[in-house]
Amino acid sequence: MKKLANRLYSISGKGLFSIPVFIVEKSPEELYMIDCGLEKDAKTIIKKITKQWGSIDKIKKILFTHRHLDHTGGLQEILAEISQVNENHKVEIICHKDEAIKFEEEVKIKPTKTIEHETVIDKDLGLKAIHLPGHTLGHLCFFFEKYKIILLGDIVMDLGLTLRPVFKKFHDDYEQWRRSLKLLLIYNWEFGVPTHLSARKISRKRLEKFISKYAI
Ligand SMILES: [Zn+2]
Repeated sequence: MKKLANRLYSISGKGLFSIPVFIVEKSPEELYMIDCGLEKDAKTIIKKITKQWGSIDKIKKILFTHRHLDHTGGLQEILAEISQVNENHKVEIICHKDEAIKFEEEVKIKPTKTIEHETVIDKDLGLKAIHLPGHTLGHLCFFFEKYKIILLGDIVMDLGLTLRPVFKKFHDDYEQWRRSLKLLLIYNWEFGVPTHLSARKISRKRLEKFISKYAI
């Protein structure tokens, strides 16, 4: 478990293709999860959350950047574990409205709530969804205004020494992704956190260079 900012943590999966999931600590009793990771990583993630916060049913909302299985594969198992611990507990499953149909088709779970561009998730935390379509049509980034950090989902891949786009074939609409990139510059974040590899903060300066290379 890695602390990225006050109340923002990441938990990494184990192997190749694993992505980190993010935990937002609204309070020690109330957690929001962003993405679920691969199915094979679900057990590790459940274990780490339970160890840190005492019980998996502290999760009240699960938000998704997008529907791809490396981000959603663990959902079934996480929900099963939550209902085993507390059968009356309802978790909100949230994605962008343009992602909902394909999300249900591919993940086999219907989102309980859909959101739009600039929907405020939590006012106290200054947490807001930013719709940046292209990688998928309902792809969301999550902006923590208060801490000036934006979670970028699959908008950019961190390969260590270089930042790269996700392979073209995995985009719903590559050209739209390129057109969307500029939207990120409107917001006053100082760090962006891509998925893939381990979650780490990339400076605005470095990300601006990436954006200027690919944006149209
Ligand atoms: Zn993806």
